[in-house]
Amino acid sequence: MASLGEFEFIDQMLKARAREGQGFFSQAHALGIGDDAALIAPLPHGEQLAITTDMLVEGRHYFPEVDPRSLGHKVLAVNLSDLAAMGATPVAFTLAAALRRIDPPWLEEFLEGMFALAKRFQCPLIGGDTVKVSGTGPDTAPQSFSVTAIGRVPIGQALRRDGLQDNDDLWVSGSLGDGAYAVQTRRASEKLNWPQPRVALGLALRGIATAAIDISDGLKPELCHLLGLRLSAEVFWDSLPLGSDLQQAMRRGEITEDQARLLAATGGDEYELLFGAPAARRDEIAQIANDLGLLLTRIGRVMPRSEQPLVWKTAQARSLNDDLLSQLAQGGFRHF
Ligand code: ADP
Ligand code: MG
Repeated sequence: MASLGEFEFIDQMLKARAREGQGFFSQAHALGIGDDAALIAPLPHGEQLAITTDMLVEGRHYFPEVDPRSLGHKVLAVNLSDLAAMGATPVAFTLAAALRRIDPPWLEEFLEGMFALAKRFQCPLIGGDTVKVSGTGPDTAPQSFSVTAIGRVPIGQALRRDGLQDNDDLWVSGSLGDGAYAVQTRRASEKLNWPQPRVALGLALRGIATAAIDISDGLKPELCHLLGLRLSAEVFWDSLPLGSDLQQAMRRGEITEDQARLLAATGGDEYELLFGAPAARRDEIAQIANDLGLLLTRIGRVMPRSEQPLVWKTAQARSLNDDLLSQLAQGGFRHF
């Protein structure tokens, strides 16, 4: 985008704010916005970089009428959630923005949401790109925001997806289902609009979890990623931690308990961590939950591979009806 608007946006709205309260810039050899590339000071000896990119597209990942502040928060939060799932400490991020126009009031709010989170995690914006999108009409091209987040982790200690072991406990942080319920009912929701990346949990789980993943597309598909082709799991249907919006909807009679659990098992947009750990680590995990003031729930157990990757276990061996089972089989967000 060659218009003056782009440079004003970068100079007046981004540059100073990106530096505010960020220790990154006090390091020798660190350079942020303004040059052809950003520079990061050398990492402490024995650490490696973790790099991740996630994009939010209007109409696909967020409603056009979304609160811009929450969108700014979310585009960074979903990337920090990926770093959390690796057990990495945030270092810095870049932002690529495809905009229909430079709309300062809207962008002010977007940046406020984004920089508040950036400050909280000491993760500065160090560069990016800004382009104009146009369609056949003035409002037809969807806007999009893509963040690349950079983290650091001691070599060999990252929480990878491929480490799960037979007999591991399966755990999930926080609660599930509120994000999906908000999308279904098209209501605003804390969970959907203000996801909290579980960075502290990811760090605490280094050396304890055998594998971890963040739940962006739904518990079921993410669990299948962890299991791969060599393992199966039983999941404790009645233990799935339901979000507070879902619990209220159940009390109001808007949704049955099984429908709520179905959303918890398949709904996307959670940004909670799903992880495996040996049963011998249960006390340490309970201590982490206590230290962080974060609910951690044991929701299943890994087994040798059987015919089905997942077995849904209910209390008192109640059986789930066929309709529910077929929805479970289909459940989870697919990108294509
Ligand atoms: P170049 O022509 O080298 O791509 P640009 O004119 O696109 O440079 O950008 C100038 C500077 O502003 C660069 O340092 C770039 O990283 C930064 N920048 C551009 N857009 C953004 C953005 N959306 N967020 C953060 N930094 C940005
Ligand atoms: Mg550029």
